[in-house]
Amino acid sequence: MLKEVNECTECILVMFHISCIKKVIHYDTIQKILKYYKCPDNCNAHCCRNGSIHLFEEEKNNLVHAYPEKGSMIRSEKNVDHLYLINSPCMFLSSIDRCEIYNERPVVCGLYPFKVDRSTVSIGIQPCHVGFDVIRDFTCWIVEHISCSDHVSGDDKEQLIKEWETGLGFYAGEVALFFKKSTIKELIVPFTDLEMFAIYLDKKFISTESVKTITIADKVPVISPDEPDPGISSLPCN
Ligand code: SF4
Ligand code: SF4
Repeated sequence: MLKEVNECTECILVMFHISCIKKVIHYDTIQKILKYYKCPDNCNAHCCRNGSIHLFEEEKNNLVHAYPEKGSMIRSEKNVDHLYLINSPCMFLSSIDRCEIYNERPVVCGLYPFKVDRSTVSIGIQPCHVGFDVIRDFTCWIVEHISCSDHVSGDDKEQLIKEWETGLGFYAGEVALFFKKSTIKELIVPFTDLEMFAIYLDKKFISTESVKTITIADKVPVISPDEPDPGISSLPCN
């Protein structure tokens, strides 16, 4: 899941218990956000098949204890002590693309398409199909916020909104190439914004009134015109 090994943050995180790690990376907030998104069928659990599936030491020990026959599929991460990798495709992915250990899945699996960032104050969102949907809605929220702000002048508002719309177009390009590129650029989101965004999503999906306030969601396609319509299915990991 972590496409690049992040030595700074991971060196710090590997020293904590999983429950502490989850607090540091706002894991519960990310779950509140991800419950509103579903993976397309045609992704075929790309992240479980091709991602770098990192495990913290506690997770590695738990999995080896529960599934000793699969221990040989877990190896040490070369660059970071106490960090491990599951060989991909993941041995816990079923023949119908479901996670066989969903309730015990590693933190990085529960996070994805969010990805631990190089700081302790923010997190990245990778523009896979679901990640792009999150980025699009996050952009809508930011634009809405800027539009209503009394602290930003008219010209500045226009400029800021343009920058966010341009950024969204960039991520639309990234998601179109997601299956072809080994490294994609992610959106970095401060944790404080993430908390506010989770509240926004609750309101958006619970209140039909607030859905009407979203204005730019239709300006950028969710997927490239070259891609077939993915349709909607349940998450591959639940
Ligand atoms: S999170 Fe979903 S959409 Fe993203 S790569 Fe994994 S299966 Fe595909
Ligand atoms: S979610 Fe499950 S199947 Fe997918 S990579 Fe993680 S452990 Fe493997």
